[in-house]
Amino acid sequence: MEEKPFTTSSYREFLESGKIMANRCRSCGNVHLPPRPICPRCGGRSLEWMEIRGRGTLQAFTVIHVPPTRLKGRQPYATGIVKLEEGPSISGLILDVKRGEDIDIGVEAEAIIVREGDGLKLCFRLV
Ligand SMILES: [Zn+2]
Repeated sequence: MEEKPFTTSSYREFLESGKIMANRCRSCGNVHLPPRPICPRCGGRSLEWMEIRGRGTLQAFTVIHVPPTRLKGRQPYATGIVKLEEGPSISGLILDVKRGEDIDIGVEAEAIIVREGDGLKLCFRLV
């Protein structure tokens, strides 16, 4: 199994290799994405890496028409919060959605790793 420390840089290394890795608390089972060195729920320090499949359901979304500077030119676009099958909820851009009519709470989404600038981040697409 992976013995990398539970840090943001380990998380980024995994993303570079195409894996979305969270960590899970061995005491209470809470899953953290990105990984945390100490469980925020129970304070536990016994944690293990866990690969995230990336499938989940959309909990909230908004379609942006007036973007921040770094996203100028991409509007309209959607961002949302997806609750993953493994437990954690994460936010990100929802690719290929430009209108609120094309999307709804509860639809299935899949996380994908997207390169932006000199880093990688998670986005979603509807499945
Ligand atoms: Zn815990």
